[in-house]
Amino acid sequence: MTSPRPRETGVRATAPLLRQLHTREVLGVLQRRGPLSRAEIVRLTGISGPTVTRTTAQLLAAGLIEEGPSQHPPLGRPARVLRLATETVSVLGLVVGVEQCELVVAGLDGQLHAGARMAFPTPKDYESLISSAAEQIDQFRSISNTNVLGVGITVPGLLSRHDKRTLISPNLHQTDGRQLGLDLQRVTGLEVAILQETHALCLAEKTYGAARDVANFAMLDITGGLGLGIVDGGKILGGYNGLAGELGHVTVELDGRTCGCGNRGCLETVATDAALCTLVGERLGTRLSADELLAQLKSGEIHAPRELDRVLGYVAVALAAVINLFNPQKLFVYGRLLDLGPRIFDDLTERTAGRTLAPSLADCQIIRAQGNKRQGAVAGIIEQLMSDDSR
Ligand SMILES: [Zn+2]
Repeated sequence: MTSPRPRETGVRATAPLLRQLHTREVLGVLQRRGPLSRAEIVRLTGISGPTVTRTTAQLLAAGLIEEGPSQHPPLGRPARVLRLATETVSVLGLVVGVEQCELVVAGLDGQLHAGARMAFPTPKDYESLISSAAEQIDQFRSISNTNVLGVGITVPGLLSRHDKRTLISPNLHQTDGRQLGLDLQRVTGLEVAILQETHALCLAEKTYGAARDVANFAMLDITGGLGLGIVDGGKILGGYNGLAGELGHVTVELDGRTCGCGNRGCLETVATDAALCTLVGERLGTRLSADELLAQLKSGEIHAPRELDRVLGYVAVALAAVINLFNPQKLFVYGRLLDLGPRIFDDLTERTAGRTLAPSLADCQIIRAQGNKRQGAVAGIIEQLMSDDSR
């Protein structure tokens, strides 16, 4: 048995608060280590046996956990294992992208249900975005045999921490000034968690990916826009209003092309999948989506070594800036252009090394993100449901 936890002895906790802390701890250990028997929960959390029994009974009654098959330990009686609910309840994840929106379903364990994915082109006006998303959500709920507890949404752009309003979204202006999360909550009646998309990537990596035990890491998203998430001491660095980390809108070319934010020569305009599309599209005199371009580059229909060289050069500048500024232990890169060839990622890390301060680089491991925005959306709503005081 472990000794009492400092936060339980040092806080003038009320009984309801203690219950809530226990609830969170039990849910947390099941998320990280489950499925587990009650005895294992006692051992791993240090919470007393009777409290674990009472807490798990409440969680079973609330439908947040389920009983699985029995475990047969070498010593002692067989015990039923407990796990986060997957059969009776589910959550949805909605990724709002520049070109398309995706909707997925998962259990409370965060596992996406195979085959349950819908995608639709992102409507150009806000009202249609709300109605299309609500329609797809309703359709999922009507065909699902589980109780849908809520929906997690990821959005690009600057999302205010205070009122969850998109202040500006340089590549998705139809959401500027809007509270997409609240509006969808009103229309669907479901609980909604809304997350800035790079923060969602951080949460996915922290919950299900390669950052599970990493307190200091950074995530660079180089897909449609250039997004940066910093996790410092286990918490996302938000600044005053959650807007910190907008490296994508730092000027790198004084007379560069116009950015979605209204300025010129932002890093975002030269160091993303979208930037590669623009460069290649201009040379070929055509407009290509990222999906089309990446498929044609992979198949060899299009060759673009000069454009790729230029974009990778700027991505290396972005990575070096993150390492020099934040000294992360791990730096994750999320981008589809890294799939263009077996050497691309190594090439990128070599270029980055040449632009980074050596001691900061020595501390840092640059790796590809394992998680994605779908998992981030799901992780966002699960986290919110699990920390809800009323449960
Ligand atoms: Zn910009």
